Amino acid sequence: MKTSTLPNKYDIYPDKDGYYGSYGGQILPPQLKPIFDEIEEFYLKIKDTADFKNELNYYRKHFIGRPSPIYYAKNLSEKIGGAKIYLKREDLNHTGAHKINHTIVEALIAKKMGKTKLMAETGAGQHGVALATAAAVVGLPCEIYMGEIDVLKQAPNVTRMKLLGAKVISVTTGTRTLKDAVDGTFNEFIKDPKNFFFAIGSVVGPHPFPMIVRDAQRIIGEEAKYQFPELTGKNPDNLVACVGGGSNAIGLFSAFLENENINIYGVEPSGNGLTYGNHAATLTLGTPGNIHGMHTYLLQDEKGEPQPVYSIASGLDYPGVGPQHSFLKDIKRVQYEYISDDECLAAFMELSRTEGILPALESAHAVAFAMKLAKTLSPDQTILVNLSGRGDKDIDFVVEKLSI
Ligand SMILES: *Cc1c(COP(=O)(O)O)cnc(C)c1O
Repeated sequence: MKTSTLPNKYDIYPDKDGYYGSYGGQILPPQLKPIFDEIEEFYLKIKDTADFKNELNYYRKHFIGRPSPIYYAKNLSEKIGGAKIYLKREDLNHTGAHKINHTIVEALIAKKMGKTKLMAETGAGQHGVALATAAAVVGLPCEIYMGEIDVLKQAPNVTRMKLLGAKVISVTTGTRTLKDAVDGTFNEFIKDPKNFFFAIGSVVGPHPFPMIVRDAQRIIGEEAKYQFPELTGKNPDNLVACVGGGSNAIGLFSAFLENENINIYGVEPSGNGLTYGNHAATLTLGTPGNIHGMHTYLLQDEKGEPQPVYSIASGLDYPGVGPQHSFLKDIKRVQYEYISDDECLAAFMELSRTEGILPALESAHAVAFAMKLAKTLSPDQTILVNLSGRGDKDIDFVVEKLSI
C-alpha cells in the first residue's frame, strides 16, 4: 500500500526567502548571497525531474539499502508494559546512520552544478565519514576540517575518511575543536565559493540548506507512512526522534505533520543537567538569535555568543537547531522534551539486552524518551522511534562509562 503525498499546509515552508515563520533566512555576507541563491535555484529546477529522481532512487535502493525496515520492539515493549514501541531502522543504512540520506543529495547537486570540491567540518567525524562516502561514490574530491583535539579523539573516523579518499585537515587554531573546524572550513570556502561546495551536515545553516537536507531526509517519513500501516493496520499514534541539528527528526516528522492526530516528540540532550554548559537543550532553554547563517532558537550568552554545550552523544551537542524545529515548537505542533546522559545510557543497555540492537548514543535519547512515554500509555497505543544510527562507534565509551 503506497499512499500518495498531497501538498499540505506545512509544505508551504520555507517561504521564498527561506523562512519558516520568523526562523531561518540567509544571514550571510552580501557577496555570498548569490552563491546560495544559485544553489537554491539549481536545486528547485532539478529536484522534481525524472532524471534526478531516478538517479537518487538508484543510490537509495542499491547503495544505501533503502527502504530501511520498521521493527516491532516486542521484548522491550512487553517488559515496559505500556504502548508498543516500533523502530525505524536508519541504523541499517550503509555507513550506519541517516546522514548518508542527505550527503548523497548534496554530492549529486555539487556534481551536477560542476563544483570542483566538496568540503565540510566535522566534530566526532560522523558527518565527515558520510560526506566522504558520498564524495567517493559520486566522484568528487572531498576535504574535511576537524579540530586537532577531535582528530586525536576520533582516530577510527579519521582513518575511515582517509581510506575513502578524503583529505582530512587538522585545525590547530583556538580550542582546536568543532567551532574552530567550522571557521577553518569557512575560511577555505570563501577563497572560491563559486567552485567549492560547503556541504552542511544537518537541517541548519543559511537557506536553502535546511530545505535541501529536510527534503533528502523526508524519505524516512515517506517510507514509514506506508510501512507502518502495512505492519499494524493503522498510522502510528506517536513519533519520537532525537534532535541535534534536527535532520533525522524532521525527516520522520515532515511526512506526518498534517495528520494532527499524531503526537510528535523531539528529544534533546539534558546531559549532566540543565545548568550552564552541561547540556544542549536548545529548544527547552534557548532564545531566538542568529547562528551559522540562520535565525533560530539558540543557547546564547548576553552578547549573543553561543554558550558552551555538552552531551554524551557528540552528534547532539549543538547550541543551535534547525529553523523549522523552532517554528514547530512555537506553533506547538511538535513537543520538545529532554533526556539526560544517565537515561540515555540506561536505554542503550536496555535496547541492547532486550532486542539485540546497539543504538547510537544519539538515538538512545529517543529510545529513552519512548520508554518513558510508553509507560504512560496503554498497549493499544503505538510509538514509532527513529533509530537514527547504530552504536558500534560508541561501544568503547559505554563500556568505560558503565565499567562493564
Ligand atoms: C549526527 C547524528 C544525529 C544528530 O543529527 P540530526 O541532524 O539532529 O539528526 C543523530 N543520530 C545520529 C546517529 C547521528 O550520527
